[in-house]
Amino acid sequence: VDIQRLIAAGEVITRPLDVVRELIDNALDASATRIDIELSGGGLTAISVKDNGSGIPAEELAKAPLRHATSKIQNMQDVHAIRTLGFRGEALWSIAYAGYLQITTRPQHQLGGTELFAFQDRVRVAPTACPAGTRVTVMKLFEELPARLRIQMQPSSEYRDIIMLVGRYILHHPQVSFKLVLDGELKFQHVSSDLIHAVGTVFGPLSANRMMNVQTPMVQGVISRPELTRPRRDRMHLSVNGRPIQATNELENAIISGYGEFLPANQAPTCILNLTLPPETLDVNIHPTKTQVAFQNLSEVLEALKTAVRDSLLQHPL
Ligand code: ADP
Ligand code: MG
Repeated sequence: VDIQRLIAAGEVITRPLDVVRELIDNALDASATRIDIELSGGGLTAISVKDNGSGIPAEELAKAPLRHATSKIQNMQDVHAIRTLGFRGEALWSIAYAGYLQITTRPQHQLGGTELFAFQDRVRVAPTACPAGTRVTVMKLFEELPARLRIQMQPSSEYRDIIMLVGRYILHHPQVSFKLVLDGELKFQHVSSDLIHAVGTVFGPLSANRMMNVQTPMVQGVISRPELTRPRRDRMHLSVNGRPIQATNELENAIISGYGEFLPANQAPTCILNLTLPPETLDVNIHPTKTQVAFQNLSEVLEALKTAVRDSLLQHPL
């Protein structure tokens, strides 16, 4: 066993949620319009993500779980123009060391499919029959990493966080169909539609009925009517040019100040907003988990958020 690789894998993949995130990112990067996610045993027994995306050509499949075997970056200049969610070619490589990896895949125009089994440095590839797209299954996660296994959360806690994670993906990609099944129980069944329906899937139909559209050149999405408030800021979702970001206090405060006197003190709205900004005015921290953005014109962005919220409220009389 390659101990260094084992340790590295344990750093990229620390919990089942990390696997789910990486596999959904890969499906989205492959332009999937349908993503089915299924877990059992808190994700430690099995995780499976199936998509209808571009698939992996037979001759490339064996390379997929090799380190830096990414198809997404060809040269260093590309690093600055990254449009995909993954780009370092480390996810499948790490997963193959954190558990048993199985990939079944077929590009639309390839006649037969291909299947891969990988565990640590053993990789086996064989032809198979399968639908177009890719299914990735990870079994017995951390079985070979007892220290990692010991510090895992209860399945119910892991599931709670995974439901939030998949909810965020649905909100940021409402045009993609998502299905989430946990231990045989259906949690989300989202059918490709618009943002309002995504809010319905994730927060329930009552919330969806209380959303208002926001549509300005810089700010697009939906915000809740002021009567739908929450004591916590846990339903304020932001993205920049389609990439989810961690909302900062400043950004959240700008949105809240747009509500002004309509929002009771210490209450927060529900909002899903995307900022459309020229890429050259952004400094994206491209670490895969830390989704932070530095804005060149922060005060302009804050003002645009506040005004967009304000205008939407005024257009939707109470
Ligand atoms: P990265 O996403 O950083 O490129 P990964 O280890 O996540 O690295 O994946 C390695 C490569 O395997 C990807 O670059 C892509 O070519 C291929 N791949 C992985 N998952 C999928 C998928 N669901 N559909 C199509 N190709 C995939
Ligand atoms: Mg990836």
